[in-house]
Amino acid sequence: MSLLVTGSIGLDTLETPFGKRQDVIGGSAVYFSCAASFFTPVRLVGVVGEDWPHDFSKVFDGREVDIAGLEKRKGSKTFRWHGSYLKNMNEAETVVVDLNVLAERAPQIPDSFRDSRHVFLANTHPVLQQQALACLTAPRLIVADTMNLWIQTERTELTNLLKKIDGLVLNDGEVRLLTDKRNLIEAARAVLEMGPKFVVIKKGEHGCLMVTRRDTFVLPAFPADRVVDPTGAGDSFAGGMMGYLATQNSLAPATVKRALAFGTVVASFTISDFALDGLRRATRHTIDERYQEFKNAMNF
Ligand code: AMP
Repeated sequence: MSLLVTGSIGLDTLETPFGKRQDVIGGSAVYFSCAASFFTPVRLVGVVGEDWPHDFSKVFDGREVDIAGLEKRKGSKTFRWHGSYLKNMNEAETVVVDLNVLAERAPQIPDSFRDSRHVFLANTHPVLQQQALACLTAPRLIVADTMNLWIQTERTELTNLLKKIDGLVLNDGEVRLLTDKRNLIEAARAVLEMGPKFVVIKKGEHGCLMVTRRDTFVLPAFPADRVVDPTGAGDSFAGGMMGYLATQNSLAPATVKRALAFGTVVASFTISDFALDGLRRATRHTIDERYQEFKNAMNF
């Protein structure tokens, strides 16, 4: 089944207790695409500026990521983000963010992508998320991510987006900010009132929580012994989750739970090294092995 993602593509500067990396490839859509491509082919839609220094075919070398929806825009500058985990490994502190091309019009969706059935609107400006959605002809499952910046600066557009999606994935701090509720179950229910049918709350090292109108499901994080750089963990989680769902012809609770477990496992590879390095070392085989290990760890 076709899986489309649109979101940010940019150059990241990352600081963690393990060191610093300057101007490395990042962005929500990049992590998502790499993660989801372990499960299913991915159609990537995004935009960078004319200063983008990398060759996209090399970024996704050996992965089934269709880059027909990537635009290198003349006269524009690439999105840049400087994040720090020096104070808290569970939550990035944004040191600098230069939206640049993300503050302009959305990239065009190629005609060949318009029939995509599974859609992930990775973290980017909520107006761009809605513009992308408006171009699709038959989406079957639409899931979105967002972050504190958009909750604080684009609440009206974000509220409009929430009415158009099936699921929202966000972290605990973000859902509290969005709903003004401390208790996560209460906060999740408040999100459901805004439109989505389900909400997945990521809690970093404490795992995740999924709430629908009927069910609540909790999952711990993978017990990782090496957390070097959490950047991209959320997008990799979403990539594993959506990638697996796109291979299944079902949204039955058991399938969705397995999808959350795959998301958790894929994210555990991402955090083991800086930027994309941990994810790049993973294979479908090591993901499946770790999935089994994760399942065994919860069996009592
Ligand atoms: P996460 O999975 O939440 O750790 O996402 C990390 C990625 O989000 C980084 O590679 C950043 O480039 C990207 N990012 C940070 N801030 C924003 C923003 N305001 N909009 C879109 N992407 C962002």
